[in-house]
Amino acid sequence: MPKKKIALPESPVKLKVHKGDTVEIIGGKDRGKRGAILAAFPKLNQVTVEGLNMMIRHRKERPSRKVTDSGQPEMVPGGRIEKEAPLNASKVMLVCPHCARPTRVGYAYKEGTEKLSHRKYRVCKHPDCGKNMDNK
Ligand SMILES: [Zn+2]
Repeated sequence: MPKKKIALPESPVKLKVHKGDTVEIIGGKDRGKRGAILAAFPKLNQVTVEGLNMMIRHRKERPSRKVTDSGQPEMVPGGRIEKEAPLNASKVMLVCPHCARPTRVGYAYKEGTEKLSHRKYRVCKHPDCGKNMDNK
């Protein structure tokens, strides 16, 4: 079967979720489950989530280059190797650390006159919450 081609975004996108964020998966077989972002790939618009969207690689037992004393090649054990597969970033929703609900992400700017005080931060879009989600 030909390998499915991944549509690459025209240019690297700024992901709304970052490494270490808790997200809820909103599509696919792990829908509704939550986990922490292990890695974010802005160039691919993808993320990997800890323990979710696992893929199983089957590896065959194969001989290695090492030779045992009896003259037989040593065997590398085969088996199933589980690994997190990357998910499209649109399939996950950031979970607000304040109200513990999945939320859309809004942006706001810190007020102040000092240098770096105008940095952008993410806010919860729930009208009854609206808290800063980057204030960790
Ligand atoms: Zn919230």
